[in-house]
Amino acid sequence: MAVLDTLDTLAPIREKILAGERLDFDDGVALMETDDLLALGDLADLARRQRGGGDEVFFVQNINLYQTNVCRVKCKFCAFAKTRKQEDAFTLTADEFVEDAVRQHELLGFTEIHTVNGENPHVDLEYYAGLLRKLKEALPDVHLKFYTASEIHHMSRLEGCSHEEVLRTLRDSGLDSMPGGGAEIFADRVRALIAPGKEHPDEWFDVHDIAHRLGITTQCTMLYGHVETYEERVDHMLRLRDQQDRTSGFLSFIPLAFHPENTVFERRGFRFTTGADDLKVIAVARLLLDNIPHVKAYWIMMGLPLAQVALHFGADDVQGTVVREKIFQAAGASAGTEQKVAELVRFVRDAGRIPVQRDSLYNEIRRW
Ligand code: SF4
Repeated sequence: MAVLDTLDTLAPIREKILAGERLDFDDGVALMETDDLLALGDLADLARRQRGGGDEVFFVQNINLYQTNVCRVKCKFCAFAKTRKQEDAFTLTADEFVEDAVRQHELLGFTEIHTVNGENPHVDLEYYAGLLRKLKEALPDVHLKFYTASEIHHMSRLEGCSHEEVLRTLRDSGLDSMPGGGAEIFADRVRALIAPGKEHPDEWFDVHDIAHRLGITTQCTMLYGHVETYEERVDHMLRLRDQQDRTSGFLSFIPLAFHPENTVFERRGFRFTTGADDLKVIAVARLLLDNIPHVKAYWIMMGLPLAQVALHFGADDVQGTVVREKIFQAAGASAGTEQKVAELVRFVRDAGRIPVQRDSLYNEIRRW
């Protein structure tokens, strides 16, 4: 019966892939509904290679740094946000942030800083722009991938100006590109349940649309594994594909599995996504998002073993090397980074693929 199901649902989709035809909403739902995981992975890898992908698997040497975890929004899935009065709330000054970044850079030699924050209502646009200017001056060769579209929208409200004015200010201050967070799931039903205080998806798309038109490349994401349906996942991906048709500024798609611990969902009995679901999302993303160059298997979130499998399900990027808290614990930070690179190289090679260290715009730095 499983064989018949496979023939019925995946065979016509395979034909479309081989013919270079675009998949539609019904194809996406059929792919989400299939239980034939290995056939799905095979199809995703076929699509990736059909569109010019090779054996390279990319990673970047990066570090995650945060300016503030104070947030007004209170998304129900979030365990990061704090109110200003909570003991572990922090709002770093530009000097504190830059000093830390420079020290870490001396130790680790990363090429990219990735920064996202809470939507802090107690700062202004200059808090962000001033930090970028100082950071760019201190580390001119480091790529600054800063601020989600939700944060940009928040800044525009803080300052009483447009998304474009905020983006121009940040770009002129040193912003190089943007991460893809804040997308969650675009469907109104889901957003009302998990992030009622967050901006409407139209705002998220408007920020990315303007960023792309200003020459700022971005990432895009989907937070899955909570209350969304298969149809809502497919709708989410297709909205991203439509945007990419218009502006071509998304460099990669990053599926983010929902982690319920320390959220209201944990108390309601929600559990982690399964490995099968994680692989399915990566494969379907690769199949549907025919115009977004890269799909990431974010190994820090999935774990190395599953990320390795995901490289055969359409993923061609494993994000970065640096997990800061581990590096702090390492006896020597520099050796720690080298170990991390070596570990990543081994894991990509063991998956039968070629490890390529890239910069933030996918230019090759080194291949093993
Ligand atoms: S906006 Fe971001 S930081 Fe704030 S609660 Fe939502 S996910 Fe957390």
